[in-house]
Amino acid sequence: MIEFTPEEDQFRASVSRFVDREVAPAASALDERGEFPRDLFHRAGELGYFGLRYPESVGGSGAAFVTYLILAEELGRGSMSLAAAVAMQAMMGTDFVFRYGTPEHHRRLLGPALRGEKVGAFCLSEPNAGSDLARIETTARETADGWRLRGHKMWVTNGTVADFFTVAASIDRTQGLKGLRFFLLERGAAGLTVGRKIATVGLRAGELTELAIEDCAGVPLGQAGVADLGRMLDQVRTMTGALAVGLGRAALDEAIRYAKDRVCFERPIAKFQAIRHMLAQAAVDLEASRLLVIQAGRRIERGVKCGRESAIAKLFASETANRIADTATRVLAGYGFAMEYPAQRFFRDARFLLIGGGTSELLRDVIAKDVIGE
Ligand SMILES: Cc1cc2nc3c(=O)[nH]c(=O)nc-3n(C[C@H](O)[C@H](O)[C@H](O)COP(=O)(O)OP(=O)(O)OC[C@H]3O[C@@H](n4cnc5c(N)ncnc54)[C@H](O)[C@@H]3O)c2cc1C
Repeated sequence: MIEFTPEEDQFRASVSRFVDREVAPAASALDERGEFPRDLFHRAGELGYFGLRYPESVGGSGAAFVTYLILAEELGRGSMSLAAAVAMQAMMGTDFVFRYGTPEHHRRLLGPALRGEKVGAFCLSEPNAGSDLARIETTARETADGWRLRGHKMWVTNGTVADFFTVAASIDRTQGLKGLRFFLLERGAAGLTVGRKIATVGLRAGELTELAIEDCAGVPLGQAGVADLGRMLDQVRTMTGALAVGLGRAALDEAIRYAKDRVCFERPIAKFQAIRHMLAQAAVDLEASRLLVIQAGRRIERGVKCGRESAIAKLFASETANRIADTATRVLAGYGFAMEYPAQRFFRDARFLLIGGGTSELLRDVIAKDVIGE
């Protein structure tokens, strides 16, 4: 079994109450309306969730990384649309501004973001660069008036409602990944156009969009580039694994509830071995997923190298969540195909877990390099 501290258990119980009372009951409607979950997002700010990873000096609570994973898991159990929006705001959307922003950025952007009053987004992917980030085409050029950016960003979570953007751009395209740096762009800046919401299969309240950046002024956030990117990707992958554990739990709970209730051939279907084994296998895989995610999270807390562990955790947990969502739709059969039941939403939302933070194929590549010792 996984050991959590009493504080972590207490935090989980409190998030779990929030999810049971306010998030899960709203999840279907959020998905159907496909609108940004503004009220719940503000509630997450009020509850201090956005500041978990940040010190008290900037309005956070200084919790360790596993506490943030617990948040991601519990929210992922309630609504993946909300969970992804909150996880983005609490980490990628604000991290670089916290680390490298000026006191003025902290006062004007970070503080309000941690209270849920402003929204931050993170922009790595482009129309021609997703897995292969060395192909990023957005460029940043230093001029007498400061840095100017040009390019196009894609799949920006929370993008349509974001107030500020952390944008990856190349300062030297001949250097591939080593040429990447991060820049702060603000909504309303001349040259920055925020696109329309992209219609998606899952995460329908997710406000995904694209950005057109046409000679736009940007403020550099740090110098590290590729090292910062590696640190961030380890955390994003581990966090996505935690979201997957949450979704897997919700799908398994729904399958168990239905299996106990549904009678076929004069028995609840939970008495049929075919169904029992599906549920048992899901429980085993879920437990293993959580172990892997927390193992990676503890390494991140200790500042230990974690590229392999985070890739393994994300790969296993996201594939597991998809299998369990599939299991739930099989157990519910016709009702798993009906929009009225949540199994279809788990099935659709789970697809995001296979992509965001690195596809399964890319992660297998990362793990293979480590295993082979390349
Ligand atoms: C819901 C959602 C939210 C997102 N949010 C954000 C965000 O906020 N910010 C952001 O920057 N990005 C975001 N993304 C983008 C996401 O990170 C990319 O979609 C992802 O990295 C994959 O890139 P791609 O879609 O361009 O696919 P590609 O990289 O073009 O991959 C296409 C196919 O080729 C395979 N492939 C690629 N490289 C290899 C390889 N080396 N070996 C084997 N197979 C390979 C892939 O696995 C895939 O099957 C989001 C995506 C989604 C779906």
